[in-house]
Amino acid sequence: MDQDKINELIRVSQEAKEKAYCPYSKFRVGCALITEDGSVFTGCNVENVSYGLSICAERTAIVKAISEGHHNIKALAISSDMKNQFITPCGMCRQFIFEFGKHISIYQTKPDMSYEMETSSQLLWKGFGPSDLASERISQNGS
Ligand SMILES: [Zn+2]
Repeated sequence: MDQDKINELIRVSQEAKEKAYCPYSKFRVGCALITEDGSVFTGCNVENVSYGLSICAERTAIVKAISEGHHNIKALAISSDMKNQFITPCGMCRQFIFEFGKHISIYQTKPDMSYEMETSSQLLWKGFGPSDLASERISQNGS
């Protein structure tokens, strides 16, 4: 992606952060993803009083894209309010992103628009993905 497109994706992820529902952690996160055909979907973290039900910004954006029929995710940008640290996806989100591609570019940003980019494979090294289900297996009786 060219620099203008990257900056735009980061800017949109920062806008998505404004919608975060995080009364418990007060830790706002926004995500914007772009598909191969140029469609953009956004997400924010949505917390719940039953903490385990909380969903991250990345998964919110991906579920929105998939549910609208867009599976070819090219890149995503993640934003938070951390001044001096790049926001990175949690382990659950790394697996969730990996499901839709090993080469998705993930822009991990700071509020000043600076970023580090790593791919889904880099963030989930040796990840278990859909292609693993197609690999040769022993029979279920162990032979
Ligand atoms: Zn997450």
